[in-house]
Amino acid sequence: MARALRGDEASAALLSDARARIAALGFVPHLHVIRLGEDPASVSYVRLKDKRAKELGLKSTVHALAEETTQADLLSLIEALNSDSDASGILVQLPLPRHVDETRVLEAIDPLKDVDGFHPVNVGRLWSGGDALPPCTPQGVIAMLRHYDVDVAGKSVVIVGRSNIVGKPLAALLLRANATVTVAHSRTPNLADVTRGADVLLVAVGRKHLVTPDMVKPGAVVVDVGNTWERLPDGKSRVFGDVRPDVGEVAAALTPVPGGVGPMTVAQLLANTVSAAELQRKAEVTP
Ligand code: NAP
Repeated sequence: MARALRGDEASAALLSDARARIAALGFVPHLHVIRLGEDPASVSYVRLKDKRAKELGLKSTVHALAEETTQADLLSLIEALNSDSDASGILVQLPLPRHVDETRVLEAIDPLKDVDGFHPVNVGRLWSGGDALPPCTPQGVIAMLRHYDVDVAGKSVVIVGRSNIVGKPLAALLLRANATVTVAHSRTPNLADVTRGADVLLVAVGRKHLVTPDMVKPGAVVVDVGNTWERLPDGKSRVFGDVRPDVGEVAAALTPVPGGVGPMTVAQLLANTVSAAELQRKAEVTP
C-alpha cells in the first residue's frame, strides 16, 4: 500500500519554519484579506485564513465589504494598503462579483504584497527565475514533496491540468527544481499513456476519480489536488479527489483527499505573508 503524504504533517513543518522566520524578522507581518459579498464558500475560506494566520502569530485583518462595493472603492482600499507600511500581504478573495474586473483588481496589488502570487510580475518572475511570491497551492505541493524527500530532479513529472492557479505555475516550479515536465489537459489524447510515463504524477483537474490504477506507473508518487464536492444520500457533503483511492495499491506514495494538499494551501499563504515581509525589507535596504 502507498505511503500517505499527509497535509497535517507537511503543513506543520512549513508553519514551524514560518514561525522561526517571523522571529528572525523582529516584527509581526500583517495579512489583509479583502472579500466582497457573502458567498458561503468565500466566507468560510476567509474565516479559515484569518484563524490560521492568528494561530501562527501573524496580525490578520479581514475587510468584509458589501457585494455592491464599487470597483473604484475596492481599488482605493488596495491603494491605501499598498502604501501602508504595516500591511505586509494583501489577498483579494476570488471570485469577485461580476461588476468588478478581476484582472484590474489583481494587477492593482503591489507585487511585493501579492501573497496569492497572481500578479503578472510574480507570474513572470516565477518563469524567469527572479524573487517571486508563488501561488499558494502549487508552492504548497512543492513543500509537500520536499517534506517527504521526494526529489524531482531529473524525474519524469506529469501534471494533469493547465490552469493559471495550479497546473501552469506548478510546471514553472518543477522546472526550477530540474524535473522533466509534461503538462496534459482536456485536449491530450490517450491520457493514460502519458500518465503511465510519470515517476511523479500531479493531478489538478476537478473530476472525481479521473485517475485509475491502470493509468499509474507502479512505484510512482501521486499528488491529488482535485476537490469535487458531492451531497450524499444522508444529506452530508463529502469531498472527492481526482485520483481513485485504489491507486494506492500501485503507487509508492499518494496524497489523501481530504487531508493531503488542502492544508498545504493555507499554510503556504501564511508562509508567503512572511516571504512578502522579507522581500519588502530587502527592497528597502537595496536601493
Ligand atoms: P480548472 O481551472 O477548472 O482547470 C482544470 C484543468 O483540468 C484544465 O486545464 C482542463 O483542461 C483540465 N481537464 C479537464 N478535464 C480533463 C480531462 N478529462 N483530462 C485531462 N485534463 C482535463 O481547475 P483548477 O482551478 O486548476 O482546479 C483543479 C482542481 O483542484 C479542482 O478540483 C479544484 O477544486 C482543486 N483545487 C484544490 C486546491 C486545494 O487547496 N486543495 C486549490 C486549488 C484548486 P483545459 O485547459 O483543456 O480545459
